[in-house]
Amino acid sequence: MSLSKAVHDSLNQQINSEFYSSYLYLSLAAYCESINFPGFAHWLRLQSAEETSHAMRIFDFVNDRDERVLLAPIIQPPVEFESIMDVMTTALGHERQVTNLIHNCYEIALKEDDYATQVHLQWFITEQVEDEKSVSAIVEQLKMIGDRADAIVLLDRDLSSRVS
Ligand code: MG
Repeated sequence: MSLSKAVHDSLNQQINSEFYSSYLYLSLAAYCESINFPGFAHWLRLQSAEETSHAMRIFDFVNDRDERVLLAPIIQPPVEFESIMDVMTTALGHERQVTNLIHNCYEIALKEDDYATQVHLQWFITEQVEDEKSVSAIVEQLKMIGDRADAIVLLDRDLSSRVS
């Protein structure tokens, strides 16, 4: 069964948003590399890869529904940041925005009575809860640490152990 135009458009748009997320995390990782936080950079790179896999999950779904995936330009992410805290609050603000975008897609699928798309998007709704939680946990740790360099170094080491 093919998609309604509204659902098709929203999913194509969401593919773009997920690739933008991937690009944003890569930009955050590049900044962390440049200020010698390899653990943060590693964590953000894995997050970037995860966002690409999100884009591909929707890519595959659109194909499965016998529709064309139409790729649009990915806008440039921010490239300069003030601090490691700025990096992680940027990530958190972004994740909250993505949650809203997913909810909008879901609302369109509801309006269009597209049950399969609703089920597909439910995975993303759950995933956003996880993503917001993990980024928020790092922001909270940074708040506790303040400007204690030794503690930031320990957190950086901790983040370097993320495996997937
Ligand atoms: Mg995502």
